[in-house]
Amino acid sequence: MRSSNILVGVLGALTALVLAGPAPAQDYPTRTVTLVVPFAAGGPTDVISRIVAEHMSRTIGQQIIIENVLGAGGTTASTRVARATPDGYTIMMGHMGTHAASVGLYPKLAYNPETDFEPIGLAAGTPILILARKDLPPKDLKEFITWVKANEDKVNQAHAGVGSVSFTTCTLLSSILNIKPTSVPYQGTGPAMNALVGGQVDYMCDQIVNAVPQIKGGTIKAYAIATAERNPSLPELPTTKEAGLPAFEVSAWNALFAPKGTPKPVLDKLNAALVKALDDENVRKRLLDLGSDIPGPQRRTPQALAALVKSEVARWTPILKGSALN
Ligand code: ASP
Repeated sequence: MRSSNILVGVLGALTALVLAGPAPAQDYPTRTVTLVVPFAAGGPTDVISRIVAEHMSRTIGQQIIIENVLGAGGTTASTRVARATPDGYTIMMGHMGTHAASVGLYPKLAYNPETDFEPIGLAAGTPILILARKDLPPKDLKEFITWVKANEDKVNQAHAGVGSVSFTTCTLLSSILNIKPTSVPYQGTGPAMNALVGGQVDYMCDQIVNAVPQIKGGTIKAYAIATAERNPSLPELPTTKEAGLPAFEVSAWNALFAPKGTPKPVLDKLNAALVKALDDENVRKRLLDLGSDIPGPQRRTPQALAALVKSEVARWTPILKGSALN
């Protein structure tokens, strides 16, 4: 082929590319979407993400693949997503830690949960439980409180890194009980749960989701659920109030976020797919069986999520800045 023909061919291809440009937001999605999970596989955030994403994939007509991006209590993943191209092909499952508590825990946090993300919608509310290895001596919460105070210097408390829900909620528990246990970080409460089951750590505070199967299977013990009411997935488990520690009432949540500047039609499609997933009987059953709470229609909107992030940042920042850690 003559070189002038090659040139014409190359120019033609380039023109076609320029004219085509990126696919318009209305056509979204034309390829696989990556859902970044800021913790290890098998933990609550990962489990909720997989349940919801599976259904959302069917609605949007493209695969949503999960990428577990680990480190720094979920803040590594959140920083990455805040800086990702805002085209809807990179989104994340954040939570009360990554998008609220981290603000009070990291003086130099590389992102602002309120301004560097577009809220898509709340996926699940997750009660917090006080969990322990199955052979920990205390039989109930009152005994646990006495025991943990007496053994403070040798007790190990597992969590998913500074900024995680498990870290944040057990920090609150420690400040209520005025204790300083040794804290042992994991890349998520999936691996932390394995350590609890294996007896390598003594206790942790965590979102209900990956605890229900273990409690039912008798591989760990649970002292209380930190909600006002008992949970239908674990009807025998007393609330913290019933068990004698009313000051420890706390719950968490998981929600979808996109980088700031993601086009509105893309966000609308993702929110609609999330809403549809949360209305699906099978998705609901799976989430409810794991003890999570499914947000009603008013709590699923991007506006409601923006308001939740704002109020949670305001709620946690003073608690954590005043915590023994800072
Ligand atoms: N539940 C964890 C937390 O403590 C994270 C995870 O989902 O693995 O934030």
